[in-house]
Amino acid sequence: MERLVILGSGPAGCAAAIYAARAGLVPVILAGMQPGGLLTQTNHVENYPGFPDGTTGFDLTDAMARQAQRFGAILKYNAATKIAFAERNNHLTLDDGTELAAEAVVLALGSRHRLGLTDEKRFLGKGLSYCATCDGAFFRNQSVAVIGGGDMALEEALALTAFAAEVHLIHRRDTLPATKILADRVSANPKVIIHRNSLPTALEADDSGRVAGVRIQSTMTAETALVPCKGVFVAVGVLPNTELLEGTALPLDEQGYIKLVDGSRSLTALPGVFAAGDCADPHYRQAIIAAGMGAKAGMDAVNFLSETSPHSK
Ligand code: NAP
Repeated sequence: MERLVILGSGPAGCAAAIYAARAGLVPVILAGMQPGGLLTQTNHVENYPGFPDGTTGFDLTDAMARQAQRFGAILKYNAATKIAFAERNNHLTLDDGTELAAEAVVLALGSRHRLGLTDEKRFLGKGLSYCATCDGAFFRNQSVAVIGGGDMALEEALALTAFAAEVHLIHRRDTLPATKILADRVSANPKVIIHRNSLPTALEADDSGRVAGVRIQSTMTAETALVPCKGVFVAVGVLPNTELLEGTALPLDEQGYIKLVDGSRSLTALPGVFAAGDCADPHYRQAIIAAGMGAKAGMDAVNFLSETSPHSK
């Protein structure tokens, strides 16, 4: 029986682990399908306090995980495939078939990219990507497109300007719903061509089935056009990684986010089950907020175990 298992190794999971480990719990962190979480795909992190010159998503999450391990947290490169909640006896099945039991659980499952086009999956590995940091270099001196108009899309577009000859930003509205500093940088970058009021309707393939362009339709005139490009980066928002919890006793909201019983804490409807970060936050979805929520979850778990655990002194 583990005292605390933390699902997720992004800022929320790592912060929960740092607090729990420093309280002597020896938490087990399940790194999940994407160790470090979605933040690892962000090239420049400029809004996380403490880094006046910025850092990368990978370096930040890697440092967080090492910090948790330094205090005794155990990092396992596994994902849970099944979870059954029972008070002080939560049961997890991992992707390698092993089983774990935990007195308390922190759910820091994070989020994943939302799909924006119906035929998107067909082009995965054939010019379509969700990560400019990971795949941008494949498109050196070529034309690429980014779909979306939020912070993520703008960051992707800016990251791609380091490699691509031109970056088409395809956004279905007139204004960019992004942070001003990013919108200003994108507008000022001569490599970025912004297509406003443009709905992406389909991807066009070349003879080998690779991306050849994005078909767009004007939301003003209904006219269609083709934006020729070799690469497409989709950044149209995120969905919570909570499929694991469907059908369990844990309440989710209508969008699939974990419901917290008290917005100022990390408690869920189930005793000993805490939630933090993007999987429980439909609003902010920021690394600093996730880390703060994770710290709360770590402290709440420590408090729960010291009050109710049969192992507590
Ligand atoms: P977002 O802010 O929800 O923006 C999603 C964008 O995609 C919107 O412009 C939306 O258009 C568009 N969209 C949605 N479905 C579409 C479709 N089917 N076809 C075309 N366009 C579509 O999502 P995000 O940019 O991924 O960011 C997610 C969260 O992470 C946000 O809270 C963001 O602030 C945060 N984030 C922050 C930073 C940072 O602070 N530096 C960096 C990255 C992400 P509509 O406006 O028409 O709905």
